[in-house]
Amino acid sequence: MISPYGEKLKSMAKQEDLFKKIIAHAKEYGFVFPSSEIYDGLSAVYDYGPNGVELKKNIRNYWWKAMVQMHENIVGVDSAIFMHPTIWKASGHVDAFSDPLIDNKDSKKRYRADVLVEDVMAKLETKINKEIAKARKRFGESFDEQQYRETNPRVNGYIQQIEEIKKRLYSAMDKEDMEAIKLLIEDLGIADPVSGSKNWTKVRQFNLMFSTQMGSTADGASQIYLRPETAQGIFVNYLNVQKTARMKIPFGIAQTGKAFRNEIVARQFIFRMREFEQMEMQFFVRPGTELEWFKNWKRERMKWHTAMGIPANRFRFHDHEKLAHYANAATDIEFEFPMGFKELEGIHSRTDFDLSAHEKFSGRKLRYFDSEINESYVPYVVETSIGLDRMFLALMSYAYTEEKLKDGSERVVMKLPPFLAPFKIAVFPLTKKDGLPEKARKIMDGLKSDFMCFYEEKDTIGKRYRRHDAIGTPYCVTVDHQTLTDNTVTIRERDSMKQERIAIDKIAGIVFERLRTK
Ligand code: ATP
Repeated sequence: MISPYGEKLKSMAKQEDLFKKIIAHAKEYGFVFPSSEIYDGLSAVYDYGPNGVELKKNIRNYWWKAMVQMHENIVGVDSAIFMHPTIWKASGHVDAFSDPLIDNKDSKKRYRADVLVEDVMAKLETKINKEIAKARKRFGESFDEQQYRETNPRVNGYIQQIEEIKKRLYSAMDKEDMEAIKLLIEDLGIADPVSGSKNWTKVRQFNLMFSTQMGSTADGASQIYLRPETAQGIFVNYLNVQKTARMKIPFGIAQTGKAFRNEIVARQFIFRMREFEQMEMQFFVRPGTELEWFKNWKRERMKWHTAMGIPANRFRFHDHEKLAHYANAATDIEFEFPMGFKELEGIHSRTDFDLSAHEKFSGRKLRYFDSEINESYVPYVVETSIGLDRMFLALMSYAYTEEKLKDGSERVVMKLPPFLAPFKIAVFPLTKKDGLPEKARKIMDGLKSDFMCFYEEKDTIGKRYRRHDAIGTPYCVTVDHQTLTDNTVTIRERDSMKQERIAIDKIAGIVFERLRTK
């Protein structure tokens, strides 16, 4: 018999295995490659291949459509990556955008000190959940979780341990007291997960911004930074946009673009990269209304995620207990990745922190005259911020499916939402002769201005189907001898593998219908 612990290990191994398969699949089918691979790669930097770039662009367009096209009061910008260095002083990134790092002297591995402590809390949380699951089974219908949490001595003990650790960690982080974090690691007896060693260095603060020089040294070069978030490009353009687009509060500014962070621990494929892309929207509101808008954007953003067709139970909110100094409410939308529930998107009520800081540092007024209440104020901001690469990984994790077919064979199918799939239609002539390729090309020419299409004539139809299942193409169209006489084709749907004989002029309608977003 396998113990529950054994079961858990088995399922963890399975998830790890799944993650490895997704990474291998992403490379084999031209979604994501390690960057600079012929030079052995560059840590935590990735390139997108021909299928990846299509999927990424489709996700970006879906976000843009939902945020900008569907909201008359949201407009876009595309600000430069290089920005005036004082911006990063004003935003707090120069002084405070750092993580505490610690090295293990034996394994030479580097860790984020706060994450090591958080892992201990997560383990305690798992123990609590296990106890609760056991008790629920024992007590059945009458089980009262709240009461159990409060009265069961073991569970209560774990809860108190978590509270105690949290208090020490948050207080040390707030005071930037690196020695207190080190002491906490020692008191908790945390060992290096790789080597088991407790031989740690001191904890040091490490700023995550990449810097470089602008201009030649002779000219008096200045140090500038690669932006660690796209948001500041929106804040510093607030007035330009508000005036030129004649926006009235409440209104939003959206931007997608690259961001750079010199992450200490950059693992887990495209989940945590040093160069990545963000899709951010800052929504400017009247002070005092921000918490209502925060609720609104929580709802709206969750709707965006679930409208893709991914089951709602793969997402959850994680409201922040500990708020950043500039926020008065914050939540993460977490997705169940193969390595568990992790942050996919952040929604923050940032008060007037950013605009006020830019007023102070730039000496320019960044205010809004609200004619409805006859008052001028610095607007409050609610931000939604999602990593495009993380969304890409979420979709790959959801879509990757291994199936055993009735005839005993197996297939890997990427069950991507059809409107996001890299290609929408693959067109195949049954054979390479008898005028079938010419006919197929003609059909493809009629479709390609509306849809990303793929033409293939190599290998058997079965093999061609498998290749398109593997990249998630929702429809394959086969041209055979009958097509030449009656202008009909076989259309095959990816998920059901159902085939239907239809007239050529019906293809576009069927595909359009399937691609429609809610
Ligand atoms: P984390 O806690 O995972 O480091 P964060 O809270 O620092 O993330 P934010 O600053 O809120 O992240 O950035 C908004 C979004 O940008 C995140 O929800 C995530 O999707 C994405 N993101 C942040 N850092 C990275 C990274 N290094 N690689 C890929 N995506 C990232």
